[in-house]
Amino acid sequence: DEKLQNVLSSLSPVARQLDVPPSGRPAPDSSYVKLDTNENPFPLPPIVMQGACAALERQYLYPENDNISLREAAARAYGIATDHVIAGNGSSELLGLLYRAFLTPGDRVAMLSPGFSFNRKLAMLHAAQLLEIESAEHHSLPIEELLSGSAADAKFVLLANPNNPTGAFVPLADIERLLARSDRLIVLDEAYVDFAPDNGLRLLSRYANLLILRTLSKSYAAAGIRVGFGLGHPALIGRLRNIQNVFSMNVIGQAVGISILSHRAAYKDNHRHIRDERQRVAAELSQLGFCVTPSHANFVLAHAPVGQDGRWWQAALAKEKILVASFPDKSLESCIRISIGTKDQMDAFLAATKAISARTR
Ligand code: PMP
Repeated sequence: DEKLQNVLSSLSPVARQLDVPPSGRPAPDSSYVKLDTNENPFPLPPIVMQGACAALERQYLYPENDNISLREAAARAYGIATDHVIAGNGSSELLGLLYRAFLTPGDRVAMLSPGFSFNRKLAMLHAAQLLEIESAEHHSLPIEELLSGSAADAKFVLLANPNNPTGAFVPLADIERLLARSDRLIVLDEAYVDFAPDNGLRLLSRYANLLILRTLSKSYAAAGIRVGFGLGHPALIGRLRNIQNVFSMNVIGQAVGISILSHRAAYKDNHRHIRDERQRVAAELSQLGFCVTPSHANFVLAHAPVGQDGRWWQAALAKEKILVASFPDKSLESCIRISIGTKDQMDAFLAATKAISARTR
């Protein structure tokens, strides 16, 4: 069709060429055990649901465009002032806003590698150069490499702590050292921090070059609701809010977010369960010959026994209706990443893994 050809040829070069399909497939049906995208396996606590339902009565009105009530709730929860908080449709929206705010074509962004792969797509969308800086030994922070060479003029540095897909956790003292030595923006993505021993909130008042990202998708069991936060200096937060899409959050996300932040104590057992199961799964995988990276998140990264391939394991488990993640990166060739689910889900995963292991001997 000639009109269609005309329309498509008017696309920007990036939109014309970008060939990265949206990530995060749903399971084919509910009989699958879905352990591939780091969701929390439990429903929202009843007390959170009750608090949120009233929002549906206001569905005919536009949501608060400045997300003020939600931002106030987050500010109370995190012990900072409201103008230090931006709320978004998941922390993914806020990551995207950072690219939009800072990058023009050709600019550089530095990221710890291996890291959250969504950044590769964001970098392509903005025709930016993503510098993937490898972690130092034992997953420690490569401070010199993040400050020197081509990373020296990166517009910002992205660190996820705990990291995805490794689950590794860097001591906050190392992050503070980087913040002190750098005058770039350091983005500390704390999506999984509620499963870790420490967090970076106390650094906010000391370093104006720190932006922390939080999400309710993982530890607060609300991946489908889409709520995330950026915490940082009001001058930067204001700039980011200025370029945010209008009404990017809806009344349901706002209300569930407020309710979650007011009932954080209702998640204690949830977090304990995830930590306990994480330890059990790691121990059992080690028994089967996998090498498991010590994890502080709600997933574990497991290197398959020598000579075995992560994608092969992913396919073998999928035949048993167990979904796990594998990675295109060379350094992660032998790996699968398994999200921590309910006890029954993890029993099913371990039973299938044992059966497959026995067949490969
Ligand atoms: N950061 C990291 C490190 C993640 O792993 C994820 C989810 N996979 C996100 C951010 C995005 O989470 P959301 O958009 O659901 O808040």
